[in-house]
Amino acid sequence: MSQNKFPSLREVHMKKILVTGGLGYIGSHTVVALQEAGYEVFIIDNLSNTSIDVLQGITEITNTPPSFVRLDLRIKSDVEKFFQTHKDIDGIIHFAASKAVGESVENPLLYYENNINSLVYLLQECKAHSISNFIFSSSCTVYGEPDVLPINEEAPIKKAISPYGNTKQISEEIINDVCKVSSLNAIALRYFNPIGAHESALIGELPVGVPQNLVPYITQTAAGVRKELSIFGDDYNTPDGSCIRDYIHVVDLAKAHVKAVERLINAENSAKFKVFNVGTGKGNSVLEVVTAFEEISGKKLNYKIVKRRPGDVVAVFADTKKANDELGWKAVHNLKESLASAWKWEKKVRGI
Ligand code: UDP
Repeated sequence: MSQNKFPSLREVHMKKILVTGGLGYIGSHTVVALQEAGYEVFIIDNLSNTSIDVLQGITEITNTPPSFVRLDLRIKSDVEKFFQTHKDIDGIIHFAASKAVGESVENPLLYYENNINSLVYLLQECKAHSISNFIFSSSCTVYGEPDVLPINEEAPIKKAISPYGNTKQISEEIINDVCKVSSLNAIALRYFNPIGAHESALIGELPVGVPQNLVPYITQTAAGVRKELSIFGDDYNTPDGSCIRDYIHVVDLAKAHVKAVERLINAENSAKFKVFNVGTGKGNSVLEVVTAFEEISGKKLNYKIVKRRPGDVVAVFADTKKANDELGWKAVHNLKESLASAWKWEKKVRGI
């Protein structure tokens, strides 16, 4: 605070963060975390994989309606127009992207258009309007099958198995290249497996159609929406034969974005482009997740073992030291708490 008893203009200016894909699963939880941390949020979303109702959920939780515009980032002229009329953006968190591995194999051009073109258009606007703080949603998928566990950020980037994974690798490279020759400072957060929902159960994960991910499939099976869960393989070289992942509570993940924003806005990034793993550091097998879910829900889950799913890595979990030490961030929820929040959300959605 300045010596003067009135705060300076700078002190009263709330930093404005543009969140693309802000009505999606991770985006919406991040908008809540940003608003709770005192940021003004502007959301762009094309509503391709979410519902406008999410805006209401965010508003109820935070008592603050974020600004929102429905916009498709693939339409360059619309993106340009948006930035011409919104000149006071302090930073961007870019979530808007397609994320289904199988779909990306079926329709690679959709993925390259949606995930790459949109990123390029956004970065062009950053350059045109001198926006220098940029956070990108990346994924542990960039590592492929790890040679060493837990995996740290120095691990080699292996050839991507799917077009989706490829878009995450290419995007990181694009951002890094732009940082080298412009005022852009960026952070890529490599997410492990986000699960769970806000404790209020006012926002959560709403997969369109049949869920591709484990936890929504489990909760929908327990809710009676799906007949049974298929577990993709129990013959892997792991203690119980099922694959191992690092399941992180989406609210913890959201808070990592706030830390990243603070770091950029306070000019604390020690390099122009940094990457951080965002996981719990703990690996759990599919069968462990099922058992933990049965314990927290008190329900027996209907499941069967089926053959392996092509493209699945055997085991991956994060070395979180860099995020802990440099970002000052650490996951606080354990697997059961995360699953309990996912189950609470599913029950709310189904009216159980
Ligand atoms: N999985 C499963 N049945 C399902 C969905 C997923 O057994 O219906 C397994 C999948 O093989 C993987 C783990 O659950 O080992 C996590 O898969 P998910 O698709 O949730 O995330 P991924 O790690 O593939 O991004």
